[in-house]
Amino acid sequence: MQRACQQCAGNFEVTDEDLKFYDKVSPVFGGKKYLIPPPTLCPSCRMQRRTAFRNERNLYKRKCDFSGQEILSVYPPDSPYKVYDQFIWNGDKWNSLEFGQKYDFNRPFFEQFQELLLKVPRISLENHSNENSSYCNDTDHLKNCYLCFNSGTSEDCYYSTTIGMNSKNCVDCFWSLTCELCYECTKVSNSYHSFWCYNGENLTDCYFCEDCQSCKNCFGCVGLRQKQYNVYNKQLKKEEYEDFIKNFSFTNTAIESEKKKLRELRLTVPCKNLIIQSSEDCVGDHIAYSKKCTECFDVIQSENGKYIWDAMVNNSYDCFNTGGDTNFCYECVATYYNANNVKFSAKCQQCSDVMYSDYCLNSDHLFGCVGLNHKKYCILNKEYSKEEYEEIVPKIIEHMQKTAAWGEFFPVGLSPFGYNDTMAMEYFPLAKADAEKQGFHWNDYVRPKLSGIENIPASKLPESIREIGNESLTWAIECEKDKKFYKIIPQELEFYRKQNLPIPHFCPDCRHYARKALINPRKLWERKCAKCGIAIQTTYAPNRPEIVYCEKCYLGAIY
Ligand SMILES: [Zn+2]
Ligand SMILES: [Zn+2]
Ligand SMILES: [Zn+2]
Repeated sequence: MQRACQQCAGNFEVTDEDLKFYDKVSPVFGGKKYLIPPPTLCPSCRMQRRTAFRNERNLYKRKCDFSGQEILSVYPPDSPYKVYDQFIWNGDKWNSLEFGQKYDFNRPFFEQFQELLLKVPRISLENHSNENSSYCNDTDHLKNCYLCFNSGTSEDCYYSTTIGMNSKNCVDCFWSLTCELCYECTKVSNSYHSFWCYNGENLTDCYFCEDCQSCKNCFGCVGLRQKQYNVYNKQLKKEEYEDFIKNFSFTNTAIESEKKKLRELRLTVPCKNLIIQSSEDCVGDHIAYSKKCTECFDVIQSENGKYIWDAMVNNSYDCFNTGGDTNFCYECVATYYNANNVKFSAKCQQCSDVMYSDYCLNSDHLFGCVGLNHKKYCILNKEYSKEEYEEIVPKIIEHMQKTAAWGEFFPVGLSPFGYNDTMAMEYFPLAKADAEKQGFHWNDYVRPKLSGIENIPASKLPESIREIGNESLTWAIECEKDKKFYKIIPQELEFYRKQNLPIPHFCPDCRHYARKALINPRKLWERKCAKCGIAIQTTYAPNRPEIVYCEKCYLGAIY
């Protein structure tokens, strides 16, 4: 069935299999199925709407509305929401059921839900079991980490996003798992002491390498497997390589020049149309150990998924940043840990049979709830008996059906964040006027300007780390790109000194976005394999200059 998107007017297809999925996850009350209708927005507009409900990395200093103390939060000080420090939020000093309200059948559901959203205190940041890692968000089991986001189980890591599985001493990494002493690595796993690498596995002492696996002592290489002592894809003798490295000086000018050389070499070595590893019947990019995942990006160990980003899920559609034994979820964002049958919800963890809820934990059978923990059979934060719940929810669904609200995720105006603070801005960038035209909020709060004993433009920084003394810790450095000021922290300076690396010329945000830009867009295009000419789907847009091969031709060329 072809449908026109109500947001962008683009056409999209709803297949018979999609309809079967909507039927399967439709709730049943008293033997009657309350069908979830096919979506009215195209997959991309649906993803944009969901991603606008997650602020991962924009943190603000503000007051805790419970204790009055200064805290760090994903909500700016002028946010209309009540914000509690994460430890108070998780404690027993308040009760989210106190805000319960009775459903009013004379008013739209989303209007009542928004009222509740504005009343129930929100958690300042979301970190679990961290140690000495307070400047982080959406993390767990971090030790001595600073400005890390969406990460888990790592130690002594700074300025990194989506790192985990025992990463140690890594700085400025993105999507890097089980890495140690890595710097500026993106999509790199199981690697040691490697800098400026992208899309690599099992790298040791590698610099400026892309699409390399099981390599050691390689510099400026693309598409290598099990190689040692290569420079610019040329085999050197051990002594020659050692001489080359000894004579290379890690200055900002040299680093930028190597990045440029790498981009040039990249254009001469074939790329694989899609990065899919050990998977069956999957279409998308960065998929591993999965089965039957369609239009999925960055999924691992998943089965029967469609329109899923950054996840580990089974039998689910339309999820963003979701995982950990999650089953039968639809239209969810940041729903984790044994989430089962959760729909149209944000940030629900260890929950089952939950609809239209926001940040609920360890609960089941919730409808339209906010901030509940260990609760069941609640509607708009009011507790009911099982029988009452099963009688009222179908009536609310029927009420929502009348206003075409049933089957839709929350309207974008209900997001507690400004569009410019959310993941939507990273994947679907919009100017303020356009975002507001589409109903999103915008965060206009301006952080107080950072200042140091000395303000230094990045271009005036000494070229080599050896020329930089401890006074650099008091500098406010002005980013070369967006002119924002940033500071360096002592453990970071120590890392640069030990690794003989210069102080970066860009602020942490600009560095994050530069790494993100290495990864292809989460979009599929039709192209022809540059070798055999068969039709392929790929994340390389047709006008891009890279040589793109189908999987078969790529494997023939690389191995
Ligand atoms: Zn659309
Ligand atoms: Zn910057
Ligand atoms: Zn081919």
